[in-house]
Amino acid sequence: MKLVKLIASLGYGSRKDVAQLFRAGRITDAAGEVLYADDVVPYETIRVDDEPLDPPPGLTLMMHKPLGVTCSRKDPGRVVYDLLPPRYNVRSPALSTVGRLDRDTSGLLLFTDDGALLHRIISPKAQVTKVYEATLAQDLRGDEGELFASGTLLLEGETTPLAPAALELLGPRHARLGVSEGRYHQVRRMFAAAGNHVETLQRVSIGALTLDGLPPGEWRALDAAEVALIF
Ligand code: URA
Repeated sequence: MKLVKLIASLGYGSRKDVAQLFRAGRITDAAGEVLYADDVVPYETIRVDDEPLDPPPGLTLMMHKPLGVTCSRKDPGRVVYDLLPPRYNVRSPALSTVGRLDRDTSGLLLFTDDGALLHRIISPKAQVTKVYEATLAQDLRGDEGELFASGTLLLEGETTPLAPAALELLGPRHARLGVSEGRYHQVRRMFAAAGNHVETLQRVSIGALTLDGLPPGEWRALDAAEVALIF
């Protein structure tokens, strides 16, 4: 891909804007040599205003989604995209979340600009396990594990039973639940179906990928080995 088109696609401006950056000598190589729009140079050597170029298309990020932000671009309030650098929101192909977490759920959230990867992760066929930790309003009864594992639990308003899910008790009102589907408000509705109420909810892992100490509100790019941990 021509440099102007590539750099414009990363959100640095229109092709006209990027052509102007070249003319102004603001695009250089790692040694500070001014680059021209027709140059062919390794991606990782390109700098804009002496900063390395943003990562190329094929970008996957993990974020520790904090409470109080939503995953919908259309939401008038604070959204997860506001926590990314502004340029990441005008890249093409666009970065989007891989599934969603509720406003009141924190934890591991993925973004990717790779549509095939997104579909691979959320496809029911992929059977990627998402693990959530929940605190509950009432003590667990003791039969929830069996109910969730049964493969027969019907959520209110639905006609297809949930796939089996694994419950691990962490305390009288504290549990870890691994699910392979991504239905709307699934975890909250599962505990509601068992006569309880979720007070706090955090997603702690997707496949073998964990939050890994990332603080709330922070994000980082994943490398190929980390993406492979999802499956
Ligand atoms: N289940 C829920 O109820 N909420 C989430 O955000 C994710 C899973």
